[in-house]
Amino acid sequence: MFENLSDRLDSVFKKLKGHGTLNEKNIEEGLKQVRMALLEADVNYKVAKNVISDIKTRALGQEVMESLTPGQQVIKIVYDEFTRMMGSKHQALDLGTGSSGSIMLVGLQGSGKTTTAGKLGLYLRKQGRTPFLVPVDVYRPAAIDQLKKIGTQLDLPVFDSTPDMKPLKICQDAQIAAREQGCDTLVYDTAGRLHMDDTLMAELETLKKGVSPSEILLVADAMTGQDAVNIAGSFDQRLDLTGVVLTKMDGDARGGAALSIKAVTGKPLKFIGVGEKFTGLEPFHPDRMASKILGMGDTLSFIERAQEAVDEKEAKTLEKKLRQNAFTLEDFRDQMKTVRKMGSVKDILGMLPGMNKKQLKGLNIDEKEFVKIEAIINSMTPEEREKYAIIKASRKKRIAFGSGTTVQDVNKLLKSYTQSMKMIKKFNKGGMRSLKNMLPF
Ligand code: GDP
Repeated sequence: MFENLSDRLDSVFKKLKGHGTLNEKNIEEGLKQVRMALLEADVNYKVAKNVISDIKTRALGQEVMESLTPGQQVIKIVYDEFTRMMGSKHQALDLGTGSSGSIMLVGLQGSGKTTTAGKLGLYLRKQGRTPFLVPVDVYRPAAIDQLKKIGTQLDLPVFDSTPDMKPLKICQDAQIAAREQGCDTLVYDTAGRLHMDDTLMAELETLKKGVSPSEILLVADAMTGQDAVNIAGSFDQRLDLTGVVLTKMDGDARGGAALSIKAVTGKPLKFIGVGEKFTGLEPFHPDRMASKILGMGDTLSFIERAQEAVDEKEAKTLEKKLRQNAFTLEDFRDQMKTVRKMGSVKDILGMLPGMNKKQLKGLNIDEKEFVKIEAIINSMTPEEREKYAIIKASRKKRIAFGSGTTVQDVNKLLKSYTQSMKMIKKFNKGGMRSLKNMLPF
């Protein structure tokens, strides 16, 4: 997501970085390019115009921080403005203070509503809630079956709606059923149409009145760009939405909808859908998204995922070892296991600051390689894992034989391990300074 925009902005900033000082002329030229990049990413015209004008005012004003170079200052301002335009802070779900809450999902057909209902169910359960899914789309019988199947797959309770029931009656009966089953959060998957139409809106209004949901979220397809923003505007006028979920952000959506939706509709983007799998739902954080667009990497998401995968005590021991340059092959293997728990290597690399998106695209990571590496390290003796330097030709042969690999494979592994060691040593020497060198600007 946002690859083109990121690449375009990256080249603008590189040019700005080339100037020792910034003046009105080079800022103007840089911002013209930023504006073009935003329009190309399908950002709403007015939103792009306003944000550029705000950036310009700040860049030309006296907001100069001595610790930053002129190029860095502009990036910082752009980052701040992008964050602001997307709503500044993450807007969490507000399910009220009572014993139960409910989320009504609305949107056009094919936007990803039913999938999102399943994803939200999973998300809510992870948050410690007990969700109850309610299929309300009686016009497309397949939609009811689809949600029931999702429920079975995710082991989430689903209300037993039938196509002959009236939507409002389904919702009311579902509330009772949820209470009886001890569920505290209802997720209503309402009917969608191919286009906006008055009958649908009127029905949704009736449902809203009858159900009083804590949240009413529009599910919209990011791939439709500005259409998604317009749809959000129309639904909001009739239903006064509490937020938006943009799906299919993993595709080649240019991202304009995510950047414009808050500024145009005033309603926050609460989640983004990033895949067909039910785990592909992420709470939307304006600051993280801005840093991702600007190629600063999704460092915070990375840290969060790392925290989920890494045991705190383990992390402390590892840090100590790294500081003492005592990172053995055994640690190398354990770390690899932890990294793999966090997701695919490509995903993880994409979150790191300074990762070149193009390089990443061309990178072919064979996850099977990891299995090989693990097998090789397992075939070593404890002494070999501690002191890799003793692994000479005959030991290499034995290790290769034991792990069902070749001597070349063993050599390759030792090389990447020694390279990691070198990086760690360099890092320990340079401390914060070397960290700064790793930053993308
Ligand atoms: P509904 O008609 O609004 O209920 O839409 P569905 O939930 O049936 O989704 C329509 C299609 O979009 C399905 O093929 C989903 O797998 C797909 N889909 C939904 N959300 C996402 C997403 O975040 N990313 C991707 N790539 N596909 C999605």
